Amino acid sequence: MTRVFFLGRSFLALFISLGLISFSFGSPSLGMAAEKKTKASAKPGQAKSAKPGAAESGAGAAGSAGVFISAGVYKKTIGDLEIYALSDNRGRLEFSVLLGLTRDQIRAMVGQNSEMDNSSLTSYINAFLVKSPVGLFLVDTGLGNGDTLVKGIKEAGFSPEDVTDVLLTHFHRDHIDGLLSGGKSLFPKATVWASKNEDRYWIKDNQNNRGQSAETKIFPYRRDGRYKLFEPGQAIRPGVETIELYGHTPGHVGYLFTSGRGRDILFWGDIVHAYLIQFQSPQTAVTYDVDSTVAAETRSKILKTSAERDYWVAGAHLPFPGLGRVKARSSGQGYDWIQER
Ligand SMILES: [Zn+2]
Repeated sequence: MTRVFFLGRSFLALFISLGLISFSFGSPSLGMAAEKKTKASAKPGQAKSAKPGAAESGAGAAGSAGVFISAGVYKKTIGDLEIYALSDNRGRLEFSVLLGLTRDQIRAMVGQNSEMDNSSLTSYINAFLVKSPVGLFLVDTGLGNGDTLVKGIKEAGFSPEDVTDVLLTHFHRDHIDGLLSGGKSLFPKATVWASKNEDRYWIKDNQNNRGQSAETKIFPYRRDGRYKLFEPGQAIRPGVETIELYGHTPGHVGYLFTSGRGRDILFWGDIVHAYLIQFQSPQTAVTYDVDSTVAAETRSKILKTSAERDYWVAGAHLPFPGLGRVKARSSGQGYDWIQER
């Protein structure tokens, strides 16, 4: 149930400025995701009680075919892992964010695609829940006050209290804002994980107040002894490895879950912001990268590894549900994104 991704979608425009990116919010119901919603699986809570059945009979190396639980929640089973993609937001990525490419070059690279207008590409924000035999993991927390995130978690059949671990890929706002709601921890029982380098850059060596937002979001967890730092390469829980993916930020990391049987799944955070450009051109960096040279090198390496090992991949800014695989092009230049759904 995979294919090369192509979407037709229109958006309501309501722009906000993050200092990092401008988003225009669209209703999830306008997207292909909504059109593909599986009616039989649209009830909140069903995820927990889902039994292996026709849709899951393919579980194994490739994982089962996924289902939309709602317009913004997609479930896929891989081995003994249940993956829930949570749509946090959608918006626009301006061409000017892509370094070193002219408007005409971008148009030529993308070709005919309804995700592109005169000056921008469709952009996505996804978070992910992973139910493994050892816990319920949330990978990144999206943007905003957590309302959208909580709605998604509930539609998946869980509550914020069920989350045992929050795995942060890095400290940009679209990944950490959902840690708090009304100034309080949204995940009262969870341990929050991040790399030592990320903490050092944003919080310990806070210069020009660049870490103010991160400090505020993480403070309640640290105060309660539920904030833990690691050196990438360590396993932080059984079956959960951490991978150094520095560049986009100095401590940006990925989390590799081994599924027990079947393929592993890599949550790679912000390795790709513009999927229509950066798979074919991994060397293209974005203005949000703290170190664009290192970010491009890291992207090239992890794309190669992901293709060679045939990982399942989950990306924060890949088209919802943000799950798929990477295939090397036969030309030897660049990759294709093989989107789940
Ligand atoms: Zn991001």
